[in-house]
Amino acid sequence: MNIRLFKPSLGEEELQAVKESFGRSWIGLGPNVTEFEEAWEKFIGCKEAIALNSATAALHLALSVFKFPEGKKVLVPSLTFAATATAILYNRLIPVFVDADPVTLGINLQDLEKKYDKDCVAVIPVHYAGHPVPMDNLILWAKAKGLKVIEDCAHTTGGVYKDKILGTWGDVSCYSFEEKKLMTTGDGGMICSNDPDLLKEVRAMRWVGIDKDNWKTAQAYTHANKDAMHWFYEISVLGYKYNMNDLAAGIGLAQLKKLNKMNSRRSSIIRQYMNGLNGIEGIKLLLPFEPESYCYQMFGIRSIRRDELMIYLKNQGIATGCHYTPLSMQPLFKEWGNNCPFVEKEHNSFITLPLHADLTDEEIQYIIYHINKFNK
Ligand SMILES: *Cc1c(COP(=O)(O)O)cnc(C)c1O
Repeated sequence: MNIRLFKPSLGEEELQAVKESFGRSWIGLGPNVTEFEEAWEKFIGCKEAIALNSATAALHLALSVFKFPEGKKVLVPSLTFAATATAILYNRLIPVFVDADPVTLGINLQDLEKKYDKDCVAVIPVHYAGHPVPMDNLILWAKAKGLKVIEDCAHTTGGVYKDKILGTWGDVSCYSFEEKKLMTTGDGGMICSNDPDLLKEVRAMRWVGIDKDNWKTAQAYTHANKDAMHWFYEISVLGYKYNMNDLAAGIGLAQLKKLNKMNSRRSSIIRQYMNGLNGIEGIKLLLPFEPESYCYQMFGIRSIRRDELMIYLKNQGIATGCHYTPLSMQPLFKEWGNNCPFVEKEHNSFITLPLHADLTDEEIQYIIYHINKFNK
């Protein structure tokens, strides 16, 4: 056995999309990107979605659009991927790490209140593993404090909390299509908002400051406006090289069509895990998974003999991981870190188990069998 922790689920449809781009000989920023953005707006139900080359880029730009003065503070969970917090540093802002909720492992609302001060300008909740942060409470609190809310939706795609899709609660939301996520474009991301005015400079910011549709220009080159200065453009914002390309967007369009199916397979896998692991001495579920209600990018357990169990599973050909070492403990963040006592201790019990749409029932039973055997 050699069971991967994460694996993208790819097929003929994705290959076909790539071939179509090859057929057009247009593989950069082009019509697929526009089509993917429109499909995503419809899927999430937001007014504006702009496709980028990663969620890291999306988080960077999400904070940039508010033009916060240098040195202001942003509240961020300690238990998240590095990019959630590096986006704060890219913007010359200060990260304030918030501890995890002991049950859901999402941002801890009591600690959030404790860590807040007058210099805070924004909060970045992460729907950890895909489990929703209680956004109704968080938004109420943030609005009362005058904070902007940026949702890091890298672990969710269309999960619904209290009748509202995750990623439409905050001011801006960021999705990831990196290959380990719920759907993939290889690498890719999306920045979304219901306030198009807020994102008005993002199209320019993703392409070194130039807001121009090269595909349309190329199509119309010899047609309209014979005397127009087609080469003219103006750079008025500081931009980056953050655009998605047509190869990625084509794959994304194909993946989006399969997303419901892939998500229900993930849910059924989690249900099998929950049934199979129920009652095993020495382990607990990582968080109160509700696979029939939400889509999850990760599944895991907490174990008192974490390291031994991980090594045992490795020897059975089962890949595991730990998501994450809290950022407040990382050397890069040392000057703002080490103040999230619960998660800084508790993460030593976390084990992420294999979860991807192509995992077979046999493989799941094999994993459950070995966790059982280890704990006997
Ligand atoms: C993966 C991930 C990101 C970054 O996504 P990329 O598309 O790889 O840049 C950000 N936040 C969280 C919580 C993630 O898991």
